[in-house]
Amino acid sequence: MDLSDIGNDLESVLLSEQQLNDRLAEMAAQIDEDYKGQDLLLVGVLKGAVMVMADLARRLHHPAEMDWMAVSSYGSGTKSSGVVRILKDLDADLTGRNVLIVEDIVDSGLTLSWLLSNLRSRGPKSVEIAAMLRKPEAVKVDLDVRYVGFDIPNQFVVGYGLDYAEKYRNLPFVGTLAPHVYES
Ligand code: 5GP
Ligand code: MG
Ligand code: MG
Repeated sequence: MDLSDIGNDLESVLLSEQQLNDRLAEMAAQIDEDYKGQDLLLVGVLKGAVMVMADLARRLHHPAEMDWMAVSSYGSGTKSSGVVRILKDLDADLTGRNVLIVEDIVDSGLTLSWLLSNLRSRGPKSVEIAAMLRKPEAVKVDLDVRYVGFDIPNQFVVGYGLDYAEKYRNLPFVGTLAPHVYES
């Protein structure tokens, strides 16, 4: 699949399917090593983390469990406010568990900061974060992201789970949108 297959909405490919796959294999190997012989519960954050979760989880040798949460950030426009509401909670009880939150992207880090303290209040043994993408803003907040796929520039990206008005999540790569898409 290339850019022309989906019309002229995309400006450029930031991370190709191959780049994502190569990095996921490295991240999975690291997670296997870190959690060897230990319990592991992967918590995917809907909807953006669907692709990362599926691709990361299937590369693990660890017999990890998978659970899902859906949250919504209140905020104006594209900025998140850090005020978060749970739309779908976990099925799993976190008491004594090693939890690894799987996320698509960390931007302001506000959503993840909230999620981290929420999950930590449920008595887990540990809570760590794996995010496929991280923007420069995230580095400024005090958020320890244990596994990061790629540090990317401060641009609005779509694909590989990430949407613009719910579209483009199904792209197998990460791309930037052409300006006319925002403007129209
Ligand atoms: P934060 O709370 O870290 O600012 O925001 C995290 C959420 O905002 C992500 O889970 C994602 O849904 C959305 N987000 C942040 N940056 C981007 C981006 O560049 N593209 C898309 N499609 N969503 C983004
Ligand atoms: Mg997300
Ligand atoms: Mg979105």
